Amino acid sequence: MKVMSWNRALLFSSILFYVCIQQQFWAGSSISKNKAMVEQLQRYGIIQSKKVAEAMESVDRALFAPDGSLAYEDSPMPIGFNATISAPHMHATCLQLLENNLQPGMHALDVGSGTGYLTACFAHLVGPQGRAIGVDHIPELVEMSIKNVEKSAAGPLLKDGSLALHVGDGREGWPEFAPYDAIHVGAAAPEIPKPLIDQLKPGGRLVIPVGNTFQELKVVDKNEDGSVKVCTETSVRYVPLTSREAQLRGY
Ligand code: SAH
Repeated sequence: MKVMSWNRALLFSSILFYVCIQQQFWAGSSISKNKAMVEQLQRYGIIQSKKVAEAMESVDRALFAPDGSLAYEDSPMPIGFNATISAPHMHATCLQLLENNLQPGMHALDVGSGTGYLTACFAHLVGPQGRAIGVDHIPELVEMSIKNVEKSAAGPLLKDGSLALHVGDGREGWPEFAPYDAIHVGAAAPEIPKPLIDQLKPGGRLVIPVGNTFQELKVVDKNEDGSVKVCTETSVRYVPLTSREAQLRGY
């Protein structure tokens, strides 16, 4: 039997360690306040800007996390319908990547909006002159996300129409308010859906997990001439961007 060399074992365990810390920065009930969660994300260097910290501080994650869950734990949590609310470090990572495209007055699209948490953060950043649109294909989740947002600091933005949550197939984007400065996709696509690239403004940025078992978070920037540049940010693990039927039968 071939035994793994020390070098390979060391490499393997460092990769494993890297994957572990990528997936969870803290666990358990050590954090019981939204502000403490934001400070923790700042300590780990995931939140790097005041603007992202301020948005995540204003939108209390506990209003979006499942009842009775450890709302501030750094872990994805089931929200029903084979979907999850993403871990705080993933929400923070995506907000950081999109920060420059979430300025007051800008248009943002959140595909696979689930609980509505990130759509609410987007709305907070683009403000009443901007547009934050969430799209999810599970009507019950959209209904729940509207209730969550109503309870949150982004509630008034839902009322005035600058934040809206819709039922739809997010692979088609949401043409009504295109082109978008920022598009976020909260589920992993086998490949980048063309309508999302088409609905991106020149200068706009799309953040999307791509892959099946092995997934990477891709950052797609549209240049002024309409061409796109795609970069890989990190390895990730998301539920699939798929049809409603496939999701409801467990993919
Ligand atoms: N970002 C959200 C939810 C992430 S889970 C949050 O953190 O709360 C991924 C979401 O994508 C699920 O809610 C799922 O219903 C949705 N989804 C998957 N495929 C979709 C599609 N084709 N169109 C719209 N939503 C989709």
